[in-house]
Amino acid sequence: TEGYKHQARFWYPMEGGFESVVRAVAKPLPQERIRLNAPVKTVRKAGTGFLVNGEEFERVVSTVPLKELAKALDDVPEEIVRAFDGLDSTSVASILVAIDEPPRDDRSWIYFPHASAGPFNRITHLSNYSPANAPEGKRSILAEVTYRGAPPDLDALQEQVVDCLHADQLLEKDRVLFTRAFTNKYAYILYTHRLEESLGVVRRFLEDRGIDILGRFGNYQYFNSDQCIRSALDFA
Ligand SMILES: Cc1cc2nc3c(=O)[nH]c(=O)nc-3n(C[C@H](O)[C@H](O)[C@H](O)COP(=O)(O)OP(=O)(O)OC[C@H]3O[C@@H](n4cnc5c(N)ncnc54)[C@H](O)[C@@H]3O)c2cc1C
Repeated sequence: TEGYKHQARFWYPMEGGFESVVRAVAKPLPQERIRLNAPVKTVRKAGTGFLVNGEEFERVVSTVPLKELAKALDDVPEEIVRAFDGLDSTSVASILVAIDEPPRDDRSWIYFPHASAGPFNRITHLSNYSPANAPEGKRSILAEVTYRGAPPDLDALQEQVVDCLHADQLLEKDRVLFTRAFTNKYAYILYTHRLEESLGVVRRFLEDRGIDILGRFGNYQYFNSDQCIRSALDFA
């Protein structure tokens, strides 16, 4: 797509899917320093450092979505709360469809600008990214459906996606092995008129608190994963 040329060529792991990138980053690190399933609930200034969930730290570098970070802060003035509220975004439901058929072509993904084709704005042929992404002789499609507010009924959505892909001649319905649905609350930044001003206020507030921010929703920049990793390396 014009304007998206930087995405025309990309690297993808042969084994382990995209998660293997995260695993490779984590591998050389001291494992006892990595904590998983550890939601940050409170971030408080304490002397020259911070208390995070009541535990002392010298520094806070946050990559959690700014609106989630806001919930963990105390003493946030009303105008700053309004600025956090001014950071709008859309969510996405990702529907994976497993198909009992070998890949039909070598396409990576297709955009769907017209609602008549289905609820999805893009489908990705994940099984074309690496032969290890699907068993031999099978293929998969990942359909992305954006939404705002509460998640849609995922059972109904999976059925609708399969029906539409069938109608669009992108699969035969009777070849579908199974479907899975996942949601991401924070998917795409919405570039509203109030975004720039709100973001400026939020960033200045966090800078004054001594909290460093990075990442896509952590710093509200339209970053793909490579840019997130680049900015983290630059920061470090
Ligand atoms: C549908 C979709 C498709 C995409 N496709 C591509 C692609 O093909 N290629 C590409 O390069 N990029 C793609 N991206 C973008 C890529 O996913 C992001 O750029 C990248 O994941 C952002 O990394 P991050 O570390 O900033 O944030 P995230 O990966 O979102 O990580 C933020 C983390 O913070 C955690 N968190 C939230 N609240 C708390 C809390 N209170 N305490 C602790 N942790 C918390 C979340 O659970 C999450 O794990 C896609 C994004 C979407 C939504």
